Amino acid sequence: MSLRKLVAGNWKMNGRMAQLEEALAVAAANPDPAAELLLCPPATLIAAMSQALTGSSVAVGGQDCHAAEAGAHTGDISAGMLADAGASHVILGHSERRADHRETDADVAAKTRAAWAAGLVAIVCVGETEVQRDAGKTLAVIGAQLAGSLPEGATGANTVIAYEPVWAIGTGRTPTGEQIAQVHAFLRQNAPDATIRLLYGGSVNPGNASDIFAIDNVDGALVGGASLKARDFNAIIAAANGT
Ligand code: PEP
Repeated sequence: MSLRKLVAGNWKMNGRMAQLEEALAVAAANPDPAAELLLCPPATLIAAMSQALTGSSVAVGGQDCHAAEAGAHTGDISAGMLADAGASHVILGHSERRADHRETDADVAAKTRAAWAAGLVAIVCVGETEVQRDAGKTLAVIGAQLAGSLPEGATGANTVIAYEPVWAIGTGRTPTGEQIAQVHAFLRQNAPDATIRLLYGGSVNPGNASDIFAIDNVDGALVGGASLKARDFNAIIAAANGT
């Protein structure tokens, strides 16, 4: 089955109001893209970016949410608040959250349920460290993360899975095509619904995007650094569009 590609940008803790220009340039260059497009700015920019991109081909997402709807959680943001600010998606279980905030698979599953309850699409991230890969544990690690992080009820309408090898994030290193294909075939076999899109993430750039999008079972990309500049992100989108 061929699924519509999703090209998602993760701005991480980067961006001020002035950078909304980059988002507008992505929208301007892609009035009717074959691929679905998403930008996930820091929480401070979600409402402004959503307003700026209203009516465009580019959706807006968050980078995390709390598992609870509301309450005494200083500094946190609920899924409902993201939706209220204009987000349609939320990235969950990114390896930087798992490492910096000690998020467990159970935390990610609870956040995923909260995202669904708020009507958001959850982009659930999995991926092995270099030590785990070198020890031959890649598929075991990813299988456990998937089983623990994805609650019952995941479908293509409410969930996207992103395979992000930790050692490839922000390093300029990427797995071989065979390594990506192996993990994505495993994810396809183990995803609970055949319409769940499987993104690859980790040092995707304009130079390697076409090769990555051509790999079996790669239904798009989660892009960090190269999503910050419209010129680079647009080149990746063009590769996903096949143009
Ligand atoms: C990410 O952190 O989601 C990511 C893929 O980052 P980069 O593209 O910069 O490796």
